[in-house]
Amino acid sequence: MPAVVASAPGRVNLIGEHTDYNGGLCLPLALPQRTTVRLETRSDPRLRLRSRQESDGWEGAVEDRPTGWAAYVAGVVAALRADGDDVPGFDAEIDSDVPLGAGLSSSAALECATAVAVAALIGLDLDDPGRRRLAAACIRAENDYVGAPTGGMDQTVAMLARPGHALLLDFAGDDVTQVPVPLPLEDAGLVLLVTDTRVSHTLTDGSYGDRRTECRAAAAALGVTELSRADLRRVEAMADLVLRRRARHVLTENDRVRSAVALIGAGDWTGLGRVLDASHVSMRDDFEISCRELDLAVTAARGAGALGARMTGGGFGGSAVALVPASALDDVRRAVTAAFAEAGLAEPAHLVATPGEAARVETVS
Ligand code: ADP
Ligand code: MG
Repeated sequence: MPAVVASAPGRVNLIGEHTDYNGGLCLPLALPQRTTVRLETRSDPRLRLRSRQESDGWEGAVEDRPTGWAAYVAGVVAALRADGDDVPGFDAEIDSDVPLGAGLSSSAALECATAVAVAALIGLDLDDPGRRRLAAACIRAENDYVGAPTGGMDQTVAMLARPGHALLLDFAGDDVTQVPVPLPLEDAGLVLLVTDTRVSHTLTDGSYGDRRTECRAAAAALGVTELSRADLRRVEAMADLVLRRRARHVLTENDRVRSAVALIGAGDWTGLGRVLDASHVSMRDDFEISCRELDLAVTAARGAGALGARMTGGGFGGSAVALVPASALDDVRRAVTAAFAEAGLAEPAHLVATPGEAARVETVS
């Protein structure tokens, strides 16, 4: 039976949080950490799935609608079959060095690695339009099959990332537009330090969905279809304080993404650091998706020499990202770890993010 190995990256979002489902802007990059899926075709339409990261495997038909991790794989198959693709059954073995549930998008890495493996198995195009179609199927898998109401950032960057670049994504209208933004961190003597607080967020527990609902309500109150299109002066005049704060975050965050791209282009890293700091304050105070551990990671990183830092990903736990002079990397890492120990928190995990490659086929045999 034919076998395919494919992989897809996790991602860290440099800036632009909860903007994707509001028709706005974000600036993620692919991580070097990846999820690998090995598929072997079966003679029946069933799936048999195993992952090195999970003790329990799963076997069944897509129509059985597994709950738990198998849904991320079965959901992709269901979405592609619904598109009319003739996806055979398969046995899959999964492995990953993307931390799970850490706001670094292990879910999209798993979906996109599965989609690209299936594409190689049945001969689907992996050019730009082909990748966008696969990303759309992976988004449907996560939203409709898994039931996590996330936006499209994670799957889009996993499918379209370029090494050495962040990806400016614009979710205005129906088609996502993408502009690769060179990120010459090494030349600038900088690193992006990602700190996994080990506070596991759960995107299906309602908090993320609450923010989506609030954003929809704010857009309706402002008479716009996409909250990103609203006028900030009208937002400031909103009577509902909670909706006003949520909308203010989305609008100011879009502006900060634009500023970040301009500052990166100008090599103004100090300015970029300030924008990252402002983004964190907005997520903490207006969007209210931070937590004690994320605030601590950000404050400790800054105190030890980071140019700026913010929580990244959906929030309510997960990871923070800090822009750090390479010469201060050890100090920052140590300071964050020490601050967690002092606060009686579990030890955080650090990784250095260099902009990696999009989902790809590894081998076909
Ligand atoms: P994130 O995408 O930030 O890591 P999510 O909550 O969106 O967090 O997705 C994490 C979930 O995705 C895991 O709890 C698990 O169900 C599934 N998952 C991700 N990677 C793997 C993997 N390598 N093996 C099995 N399941 C995985
Ligand atoms: Mg995810």
